[in-house]
Amino acid sequence: MDGFNVEDALNLYGVDLWGAGYFGASEEGRLEVLPTKNDGRRIEILKVVEELRKSRIGTPLLLRFPQILESQVQALTGAFQKAIVEFQYQQGYYPVFPIKVNQRRTVVEGLLEAGYKQNLGIEVGSKPELMGALALSVPAEALTVCNGFKDRDYLITASMGVRMGRKVVVVIEKPFELDGVLELAQAGETLPWIGFRVKLNAKGSGLWEKSGGGASKFGLSTSQLLDSIEILRQKNLLGQLKLFHFHIGSQVTEIRKIKEAIKEGARVYAKARKMGVPIEYLNVGGGLGIDYDGSKTSSDASVNYTMEEYANDVVYNIADVCENEHVPHPKIVSESGRALVAYHAMLVVDVRGHINGDAERKNKLTGHEPRVIEDLLYIRKNISVKNYREFFHDAIERRDEMYSLFNLGMLELEDRSKGEWLYWEIARQAVKYSKTAKFQADEFNELQDRLFEKYICNFSVFQSIPDHWALDQLFPVVPIHRLNEKPTKLATLVDITCDSDGEVEKFVDLKDIKGALEVHELQANEPYYLAFLLIGAYQETMGDLHNLFGAVNEAHVIVDDGGKMIVQNAKKGETVRKTLEAYGYEPDKLVKSIKTTLQEQVTQNKMDNATASKLAEEYKRRFEAYPYLGS
Ligand code: PLP
Repeated sequence: MDGFNVEDALNLYGVDLWGAGYFGASEEGRLEVLPTKNDGRRIEILKVVEELRKSRIGTPLLLRFPQILESQVQALTGAFQKAIVEFQYQQGYYPVFPIKVNQRRTVVEGLLEAGYKQNLGIEVGSKPELMGALALSVPAEALTVCNGFKDRDYLITASMGVRMGRKVVVVIEKPFELDGVLELAQAGETLPWIGFRVKLNAKGSGLWEKSGGGASKFGLSTSQLLDSIEILRQKNLLGQLKLFHFHIGSQVTEIRKIKEAIKEGARVYAKARKMGVPIEYLNVGGGLGIDYDGSKTSSDASVNYTMEEYANDVVYNIADVCENEHVPHPKIVSESGRALVAYHAMLVVDVRGHINGDAERKNKLTGHEPRVIEDLLYIRKNISVKNYREFFHDAIERRDEMYSLFNLGMLELEDRSKGEWLYWEIARQAVKYSKTAKFQADEFNELQDRLFEKYICNFSVFQSIPDHWALDQLFPVVPIHRLNEKPTKLATLVDITCDSDGEVEKFVDLKDIKGALEVHELQANEPYYLAFLLIGAYQETMGDLHNLFGAVNEAHVIVDDGGKMIVQNAKKGETVRKTLEAYGYEPDKLVKSIKTTLQEQVTQNKMDNATASKLAEEYKRRFEAYPYLGS
C-alpha cells in the first residue's frame, strides 16, 4: 500500500526493545505473544479477543500468559545459578516472590509451581498476605519472609507457620517489633526465625527512590541494629537471628545504585558475622527493574542493566566483601517481584470513538463576517514561517475578543463557531511552522499537545493502570491489529471515567516520552483494539473503583506443545451489583425502594401495575451487567 509493513510497526512502537522477546506480530499485522520466547510458538491476540467475545466476554479484557511467568522464573533463577557458578559462590540462591506485587492466587500459584525446584518462597507484608501464603505449597527449603508492621496476631500467625513446617522469617522493621517477638518467646510459643531490616545509607533511583536511604520509612539504624543484637544476645535468642534484609526501592533504574547497596549490605552482614551474629541469609530485597520503554537507560521507565548483570553484580559483590572480611558466604535471598510478573499481563481495550480537537466543523462563510472574524480570516491567509509567532499571538487576541463580544450579546452562535474553527486552523499552521525552528518554543509544544485527537477507550485508568495516574508510570501501548497499515493519526487516550485525570498522554519512546500515540483511523462498524502491555506488576490491587468501574473480564492463554492456543480460566469482571455492594448498597434493598416509588406512581394513577413491575424487573436485571461500555 504505502510501503509500511509489520517490521515498521514493530519499530515504531519499540516492541522488540521493551518486549524482552515475548511479543511480535504476524504477517497480517496482528500482535502476537511468544510466551515461551524462542521456540516459535505464538498466540495471536485478536483471535483470543474474538474467541472470548463468542462467550460474551468482551473488552476491557485482561489477558494473562502463565507461560511468561514460568519463563521469567527460569530467567531469574537461571541468571543467579550462572553467576553462582561463575563466581564460585559457596551458597545458594533462595528467591521469594513479594506477594503484594500481584496477589492473584492463580499468578502466585503459577509462579510457585514454576519455581518449585529453585526453592521459590514468598514474601508477605500483612496478616492476610501471610494467611494466604501459608496455604500455598512451597518446598521445604523455601523461605516465607514476613515484612511490614507486625502486631501480636501477625507474629502468632508466623509462629503457626513454623509449626506447620515452614521456614518463616519475621523481619524486624522497627525496634518495637522486637518486643513482640520477645513476648512470644516468653509465652513459650514456637519462634519463627528473626530477620533485621537494615537501613542502608545507599539509595535507589527512579520513581521509588525514597524507599531507600537514611530517611526511609523502614529499617533499623546502625545503633538500633546493635541494640537489637544485644537484646537478643541477652535473652539467649541470638541463634534465631538468621537474616539481614534491605530494600532500596522498586524499579531501581541504575545498576550503580544496586551495586552500592549490595556492597553496603554485604559489609553490614560481614561485620555482624564477625561479632558472632549467626546470620545465614542476606536478603537483598526487590528493585530489579523492567525496561518499559526499551531505551536501556536510567530514565524512570527503563533500567540501564539486564537481569543477568543484576544477578552477577549481586553475587560478585557479596562474595567480594565476604572474602575481604574473611566471613562465609551467606545464602542469597532476593524479593524480585516486578521482574517476575510485569510481562505476563496485558489489557485489551476497544476504542469507542474520538474527540477531534475543537475544529471539526467546516463553517460556511457568508462574505459579510463581523470584523473580528475577518481579522482571523486574514491571519489564517497570511500566517507564514516568518511571522507565525506574532500572527498566532494576534489570533489569541482576536479569539479572546470574539468571546467577549459573544458574552456581550454582539455575536451569534454561528460567529462563535467560525471564530473557534479559524483559531484552531491557525494554531495547526503555527505548530507546523514552529517545527522548522531550531528549538520549538514551549508554547508551541503545549499547543501541539492540545491538537492531538483523543481516542475514547473503554476502560478506567484508575482501575487498570493506576500507576500511570498516580506516578506517571509509562506502559507500552500497541494496536493489536492493522500493524501492516501505517497509523496516520496521533492521539492521546481517554478512558470512560468522568475524570479528566483518566487520560493517557504520555507514551514510551526510545529517546523521549511521546505526547501522543500513533494510531489508525477508526473505521465505521469495525472495532479498533489497543493493548496496554507489561501491566502484570502492582496494577491490580492498587486499582480502584473510581466511578464504580470494577475489575475487568479476564482469561489465561497458553499455547500447547503443538502450537495450539488454549484460552482457559475465563472469568467475568465485577458486575454493577459487585461494585455497588463494595460501597454499602444492597441491591435487594435498592429494588425494594424502587418498587415503593413505582407503587406510589401507580397509586397516583401515573402508571399501571404491569408497567411498574416490568420497570422494577428491568432495573433488577441490570445489577448483573458489566459496568464498562457494552457492544
Ligand atoms: N520487598 C520489599 C520490602 C518491597 O517493599 C518491595 C516493593 O517495593 C519489593 C520487595 C518488590 O520490589 P520489586 O517489585 O521492585 O522487585
